[in-house]
Amino acid sequence: MPHVDTDVKLDFRDVLLRPKRSTLRSRSEVELLRSFTFRNSRQTYRGIPILAANMDTVGTFEMARALCKFSLFTAIHKHYGLEEWKAFAAQNPDCLQHVAASSGTGPSDFEQLEQILEAVPQVRYICLDVANGYSEHFVQFLRDVRKRFPDHTIMAGNVVTGEMVEELLLSGADIIKVGIGPGSVCTTRKKTGVGYPQLSAVLECADAAHGLNGHIISDGGCSCPGDVAKAFGAGADFVMLGGMLAGHAEAGGELAEREGKRYKLFYGMSSEVAMRKYAGGVAEYRASEGRAVEVPFRGPVEVTVRDILGGLRSTCAYVGAPRLKELSRRTTFIRVTPLGPPLFGPGD
Ligand code: 5GP
Repeated sequence: MPHVDTDVKLDFRDVLLRPKRSTLRSRSEVELLRSFTFRNSRQTYRGIPILAANMDTVGTFEMARALCKFSLFTAIHKHYGLEEWKAFAAQNPDCLQHVAASSGTGPSDFEQLEQILEAVPQVRYICLDVANGYSEHFVQFLRDVRKRFPDHTIMAGNVVTGEMVEELLLSGADIIKVGIGPGSVCTTRKKTGVGYPQLSAVLECADAAHGLNGHIISDGGCSCPGDVAKAFGAGADFVMLGGMLAGHAEAGGELAEREGKRYKLFYGMSSEVAMRKYAGGVAEYRASEGRAVEVPFRGPVEVTVRDILGGLRSTCAYVGAPRLKELSRRTTFIRVTPLGPPLFGPGD
């Protein structure tokens, strides 16, 4: 008989953070920078651990240039060619410590990754990203990449359960990307019925990873600065954002104008739009698991970054964490029933 897990699993919207007595005088005292040493690469990291997703409408070179000014990180999407990487590296040597080169698991992906990392040795991070991190093929690919690049820090995913976090860490990954189904333009839950509520996935995967001196990224499902704070509170070492950074000047995609309003196209990397662009269409045996949306143009990303960092500092002040490092230790979540509609409509 199929097994039914009846434990309650939670999403960001199902909880709030309980405020706690604090000695902090002002949110401006809160330190958001974090330092990590990774279990397999032995490299060290210092920065504010928020990353732009490796989507071609988000993780662009322009985004990396804007985010690195705040010590934020960018997982550069895998569709830039070698010459574009070389040009980026020549203009922005300081940014290179805050970016990762991304790869899928195809043979051409591996070759392209090798070329980029040889041409731009200052890039120390690799982001290995597949929709389903549970496959044996992915684990073998990760082992091959680790063998070829023993000193690079490898992010790998996506998975949502502790046992697979452990397997990937033991197979050479340093940071595990956690999230199946929560993304703003993801349709996996609808198309396949597969997924895991993101807050519980983060709580469980962080526990598994930290037990092995590994790290995790909460990837997907953040719709406001409060969600970013909840992900860190649940134990995420990094938080990856797609939709929250989409629609800005630095995000990829054409700017469209209609009836005096400006928009940018934002789409999932396995949406029909992306597959037509990069794979010549949706293969017969599969369904697209992403959608495309038009996002109102939001100007420079700097304004949004300040809003997120301001929110996060304030969260830390409310729960009495002088540093982001202490946020999860100071976190008590309270379960809430869904909030009613706001008095003044959806602009809240
Ligand atoms: P967001 O921050 O927009 O909620 O989520 C971003 C994450 O959604 C990405 O980092 C990636 O893990 C996931 N994602 C991006 N494109 C797709 C897609 O086409 N399908 C699915 N299932 N997930 C996607």
